[in-house]
Amino acid sequence: MINAYAAFEAKGPLKPFQYDPGELNAFDIEIDVDHCGICHSDVSMLDNDWGRAKYPMVAGHEIIGRVSQVGSHVSHLAIGDVVGLGWHSGYCESCRMCMGGDHNLCSTAKGTIVGRHGGFADKVRAQAVSAVKIPAGVNPATAGPLLCGGITVYNPLVQFNISPQSKVAVIGVGGLGHMAVMFLKAWGCEVTAFSSNVSKTDELLGMGAHHVLNSKDPDALKKAAGSFDLILSTVNVKLDWNAYIGTLAPKGRLHFLGAVLEPLDIGVFGLMGQQRSISSSPVGSPRVIADMLKFAALHNIQPIVETYSFDQINEAVDKVRNGSPRFRVVLSR
Ligand SMILES: [Zn+2]
Ligand SMILES: [Zn+2]
Repeated sequence: MINAYAAFEAKGPLKPFQYDPGELNAFDIEIDVDHCGICHSDVSMLDNDWGRAKYPMVAGHEIIGRVSQVGSHVSHLAIGDVVGLGWHSGYCESCRMCMGGDHNLCSTAKGTIVGRHGGFADKVRAQAVSAVKIPAGVNPATAGPLLCGGITVYNPLVQFNISPQSKVAVIGVGGLGHMAVMFLKAWGCEVTAFSSNVSKTDELLGMGAHHVLNSKDPDALKKAAGSFDLILSTVNVKLDWNAYIGTLAPKGRLHFLGAVLEPLDIGVFGLMGQQRSISSSPVGSPRVIADMLKFAALHNIQPIVETYSFDQINEAVDKVRNGSPRFRVVLSR
């Protein structure tokens, strides 16, 4: 039996819950969960904000643990390996996207917490191909947030061939945004953080931002007109997107990583005249996750986390729900 913490209704408290995962599938592994980050998407699923929830629900998709069982057809992982598991826990492995290495775009990819049980538990199962070994030099206690938030902000740098000469801005410097600033600094870019919280300025400069602009100051946006090759938006609230598009350089891109529920209200002329674009992407493939972890080890990039024990899970989830953690929250055993 797997001992988990489940929600039994939208916004309800998480309570101990046991389930029988059945026989281990030949292509699956079982992971003893040591650490699990709490992502805003966990709260969105627990609260049924996206209308996809089924209860009882075990959330948790920023999992770090040790392989405790391997299926008979698994050859690249062994019992005892330290691995990470993120938003996806399986792929079809045969569609055009999977065959091209874009597993995260597989139309039948399984969400770790969508219609199955995730990492707020002592164990979790997944298709072995979706778990990634944690390399030496990455601290397992803080690595959980890299598996969802981290890969979400890292993947666009790979997808769009962002160069060290690029000027990149980050909107929202919470959980995702602070990891974006650290990755971009190590990537060699000139990094600007848009923050509505000026008290974070010194911390952002310390993380590697070259400039911090107050996003509540319309003059700051005007002064930045035509500047950025890429803007990564990590917020999930509606902003004046046309004003941000005005800060893009010719051929610049505004890329959405936060799940804004309101439709985008964007004028075509702000895009057309300077051949600017808007786009979005979900997490990343296992290969890009593995590369990201090596990059994080090489450049000593660690998410800033607040750690709770698993029995403090309701307090920890509430902290994410209220938007009050400084950066990221992780449950640890
Ligand atoms: Zn596929
Ligand atoms: Zn997530």
